[in-house]
Amino acid sequence: MFGGKKPEVLVAGAGPVGQLAALALAKHGVRVEIVDTGIWACSHSYALALHRESLSLLDHFGLRDAALRKACPVHTMGLYDESGRRARIALSAEDNPRDCMAVLRQDAIEALFEKALEDAGVKIGWRRELVDLATGADHVEAKVNRLERDSRGYVVARTEWVVGATEKFEVPFVVGADGYESETRRSLGVEFDETGEAEYFAIFEFQTDADLGSEMRVCFVGDTVNVLWPLPGGGCRWSFQLPESASREPRRDKDRLLLSGGLEHSKLVDDAHLKQFLEERAPWFSGSVGHIAWRMVARFERRLAKSFGQHRIWLAGDAAHTTGPVGVQSMNAGLFEAWDLARMIKRSLHEGAPLCDIASASARWQAEWQRLHGIGGGLKAGPQTDPWVAEHAAALLSCFPAHGKRLDEIAAQVNLSF
Ligand SMILES: Cc1cc2nc3c(=O)[nH]c(=O)nc-3n(C[C@H](O)[C@H](O)[C@H](O)COP(=O)(O)OP(=O)(O)OC[C@H]3O[C@@H](n4cnc5c(N)ncnc54)[C@H](O)[C@@H]3O)c2cc1C
Repeated sequence: MFGGKKPEVLVAGAGPVGQLAALALAKHGVRVEIVDTGIWACSHSYALALHRESLSLLDHFGLRDAALRKACPVHTMGLYDESGRRARIALSAEDNPRDCMAVLRQDAIEALFEKALEDAGVKIGWRRELVDLATGADHVEAKVNRLERDSRGYVVARTEWVVGATEKFEVPFVVGADGYESETRRSLGVEFDETGEAEYFAIFEFQTDADLGSEMRVCFVGDTVNVLWPLPGGGCRWSFQLPESASREPRRDKDRLLLSGGLEHSKLVDDAHLKQFLEERAPWFSGSVGHIAWRMVARFERRLAKSFGQHRIWLAGDAAHTTGPVGVQSMNAGLFEAWDLARMIKRSLHEGAPLCDIASASARWQAEWQRLHGIGGGLKAGPQTDPWVAEHAAALLSCFPAHGKRLDEIAAQVNLSF
């Protein structure tokens, strides 16, 4: 690759954020190597929506239409409780099908990016794990293990991955988009502090005859936040927040969800629980429950890195922050962090811009994430705010599908502000 020249940037992690970083770097004419421990991109929907602004970001790569072809458009956000809709927020103009939030499986997003990378001449190095980083004066030394299959087995065949070889890179920059358990963050010695309690959600994707239109529905019942998404192809995803006590100390309670002995994940996503969740939290949902294609309990932590990097090593995406799932903020803000980083790195490499420019941009993202985590006060109600909305102001912060200025605009529609 690169006509024998060395790469200028090593991207660790080929999730959506790492892939977008590599794509943006390649677009800027930067020689980029991208590696991932995995065997291939993720095979599930996980984070399932591109914010309206992220869709605009795809315009830089000519990918908007390809994304829209696989997506279900969402134009509004409905705020519900068990009795029905309490407020409605416009996310985009309803008469323009190209201007929307795009509900799209995460594996479809990753497949789109991987193909665009291939077209740009960048091949993802799967089964390659970043294991160590050391910073020199004008470069970073990175060790990457190449993982190979080691088949062993007598009575029961078993295949394990073993280290085949260790490669050494000497690159001007490293982008750590290596997710929640980031080795890049660990190498930097950056703390990843909890900013709030972890939340558990029972997630179900199923076919339904409900007409969900182009609305995402966020439903507040008791202390729980629940979200309903229309999916491409006619199905839907319901994510039900589990009561805090279901994930904590065992205790007796009449609620069937509060299981003795702590979390028993498989029981929480059985058919009986789905029925119970729908009856208790969304009696207004009159759609059928057809084939359930996916169900699981997922744990979402709220964490924020003390810093997003230093010198020549920078973090983006889940490597730097995690939050609740409803507003899909972690992946979408991560895409913009990657975009900004790529631009800054290109300016440093090719135009001689100082490293402190990257530090300033990353500090701005760290500050934005403090805001997204409600550090410093969170969203506040005013005299015009509907009392029901005011009651849910704190929880709404991570539910709005936006960040930055756009988040302020969306919150203002229900008279909330920072
Ligand atoms: C079950 C589940 C459900 C989810 N649902 C939602 C949801 O509803 N809404 C929402 O907003 N988010 C959801 N998420 C979270 C969402 O998937 C993440 O926010 C998103 O993937 C972050 O993208 P990323 O590129 O930053 O990190 P990741 O997608 O985590 O990608 C990191 C990549 O780095 C690789 N890697 C790790 N360590 C190394 C290493 N040392 N060397 C090389 N590569 C490495 C990993 O293999 C991985 O491919 C869900 C996640 C899960 C698991």
